[in-house]
Amino acid sequence: MPNSIFTQAVHAGERTPQPDFKPVTTPIYPSVAYTYDSMETMDAIFANERPGYVYRRYGNPTVAAFEEAMASLEGGAAAYATSSGMGAIHGALLAAGAKSGAHILASQDCYGATYFLTGSLLPQMGLTCAFADFTDLDTLRNMATETKPTILICETVSNPLLRVVDIAAVVQIARQVKAKLIVDSTFSTPYLCQPLRLGADFVVHSATKYIGGHDDVLAGVVVTSEDHRQTIFEIEKNIGANISPFDAWLALRGLKTLPLRMRQHCENALTIARWLENFPLIETVNYPGLASHPQHAVAKKLHSGQGFGGMLSFEISGGDQKTVFKFMQALKLIQPATTLGDVYSLALYPAMSSHRAMTPEQRREVGISDSLVRLSVGIEEADDIIADLEQALETAI
Ligand code: PLP
Repeated sequence: MPNSIFTQAVHAGERTPQPDFKPVTTPIYPSVAYTYDSMETMDAIFANERPGYVYRRYGNPTVAAFEEAMASLEGGAAAYATSSGMGAIHGALLAAGAKSGAHILASQDCYGATYFLTGSLLPQMGLTCAFADFTDLDTLRNMATETKPTILICETVSNPLLRVVDIAAVVQIARQVKAKLIVDSTFSTPYLCQPLRLGADFVVHSATKYIGGHDDVLAGVVVTSEDHRQTIFEIEKNIGANISPFDAWLALRGLKTLPLRMRQHCENALTIARWLENFPLIETVNYPGLASHPQHAVAKKLHSGQGFGGMLSFEISGGDQKTVFKFMQALKLIQPATTLGDVYSLALYPAMSSHRAMTPEQRREVGISDSLVRLSVGIEEADDIIADLEQALETAI
């Protein structure tokens, strides 16, 4: 090593020989570029002839560890991680054939940004999109048979109305019309179901939610076949919606406690949904674990008896925007925040946030009223969450 302080400051301590230990936890590799002893090796990596890393937009060891874990949990062949859930949905749509002349059939009460991406943004590039109620299988089948979509896209459990889609039945419809099926399983997580095992072509997650679980990472992931993963890789290596290794590391760490957290989310949410159902100031409760839920049986089958998830929504009796604002401001333990799936309990007003881009008429059409509140039930003590709901509801009304 030359003894100039300028050179030493840059190179000292770097590229030390490979250690003979294995860290128990995958390290964070922030390096953008990678070098090899031989240029032939690098050439082979660029040519996709052997695995390896040359540049972070093409791949990264920490990201690869998260992708491997996700593929394993979802029962898929491969995964591709992205910088957000929307990045994952966009990548999956492109890989599934979203291009000029294509037709997308999307779930009518999907997440607001997915609604905008499929219904407004992509159609500006020459494809068409229609929305359907994916819980009404006969109408869905008729629409699909008539319009021959390239892609069907839906959520296992919809946001914020908690409608549950019979994924196995939608797979049959997609196959009949030779469409690719993308399933956003953010609400279910691989703890509750694995849509690829039911025949879906792509499963996508906002890993920002349950997978990360701690409100400290924005991330997404697509789990699919090796071939589709390669297509997404070729697209994203030019678009650049890559996840950072820091975020991939947090998401990978989140996965380790996913089953434990999900078990608690499910138990708490069921207890709270039952309490809300019997509370006089509540008009409706949407929770798939309640016998009164229209897709209770579908949810039981889809989630293989593991539970019904940590999300629910409810309408405050006679409530309007003013009542909901008062209720949200009165909450003490539950955080009025625009995310879900965290260890913290979180309340959200869809008309103001996630579904703001929709017109009031569009919201009404899909059933999102001005008194609807979405609750992401955390892993705190259920009685403490109930006490907070009770005092905030009594303050609001
Ligand atoms: N899918 C669902 C079901 C969501 O709820 C969200 C965000 O709330 C997304 C996708 C988008 O995820 P992200 O915010 O990580 O882009």
